[in-house]
Amino acid sequence: MGRGGITLGSIYGIKIILDYSWFIIFAIIIFILSFSLFPQLIPGFGASTYIVIGIITSIFFFSSVLAHELVHSIIAKMNGINVESITLIIFGGISRITEEPRTPGVEFKISIAGPLSSIVLGAIFFSIFFVASRVNLGLFIVVPALWLGYINVALGLFNLLPGFPLDGGRVFRSAIWYFTGSLRRSTAIASAVGKGIAYTMIIIGIVGPLFFGLISLLWFVLLGWYLLRAAEAGYEQVLYHEALEKVKVSEIMTENPVVVDPRLSIADMVSGYFMRLHYIGYPAVENGGAKGLITIDMIRDIPRDQWPIIRVSDVMRPLSPDIVTNPDAQVFDILPKLSRADGRLLVMKDGQLVGIITAADIRRAIVRRLHLEETGRPAA
Ligand SMILES: [Zn+2]
Repeated sequence: MGRGGITLGSIYGIKIILDYSWFIIFAIIIFILSFSLFPQLIPGFGASTYIVIGIITSIFFFSSVLAHELVHSIIAKMNGINVESITLIIFGGISRITEEPRTPGVEFKISIAGPLSSIVLGAIFFSIFFVASRVNLGLFIVVPALWLGYINVALGLFNLLPGFPLDGGRVFRSAIWYFTGSLRRSTAIASAVGKGIAYTMIIIGIVGPLFFGLISLLWFVLLGWYLLRAAEAGYEQVLYHEALEKVKVSEIMTENPVVVDPRLSIADMVSGYFMRLHYIGYPAVENGGAKGLITIDMIRDIPRDQWPIIRVSDVMRPLSPDIVTNPDAQVFDILPKLSRADGRLLVMKDGQLVGIITAADIRRAIVRRLHLEETGRPAA
């Protein structure tokens, strides 16, 4: 869901990314607050005052959503699960937890923590509202605090709906998983409920304006559509996870890959390898030792007249733990590293190159597994 975005920074080693779609919701919220809610509840001020308060309130809202996601991620990390990044998208956030929880208990803890933190935050904002209104702190604190209280509690409750992949759906899944012992079956059930909730929301959104306002239509249709997409994607991810379960790198890697000499010029590299063979990445090996990895992307920006002068060793990615895995590693566990290394890793054992594994190898393995399972034939 939306790879593009702006990286804001890191908290606890977790990258915080702002998806481009997030700006749309940010603008909508500022607009609703500044041109509708605040002028109604705090009348008598100029437009610029409402806009400033609208922006400040929206930033608090944004921080609340981030806090919700951070709590998920911190609980995940405390349970030994790696969290790559948090992407704030159109409705809240996605914590990119690079592996599925291994037990229902862990999944339950990670999932319930987010909504609980939203409800706690909501309670804090409600308290600020009560205190501020008692001591007459002014409507510009009272009203935003009330709204932030509502929105956080709403966020917590919405996320507790039992449709996967909402947090509540994950809690629901962990319960079915606990009783059936099957991650796949529990995900299928929780996703089906998730889709049901999504369709219900879309329908409410379409007939809703008869009873509520136009804004509710927009919210429900968008939320429903988002949930629908997420339910499908979440189930697919579990299928992929299951397809890769217990598959080792050595089972799907390409053994004895074609290697190149790092002293080769780019001109010879292009004519002798990239143009002649169908591979787009090669290990660079000199005197029997792996020195690095070169892919077609690395030579793209080199002007043609430089090709005879520049060598493979000048542009290759030098050997480092970032581009190396071992044949006994679980394929599922190397996925984050593989994506950081542009979809290609050298496979080495005892300092010797034994193979290469690419994203394409993994896609083939997934298709093979899923296909063989669906047609009922035993997996090879
Ligand atoms: Zn959540």
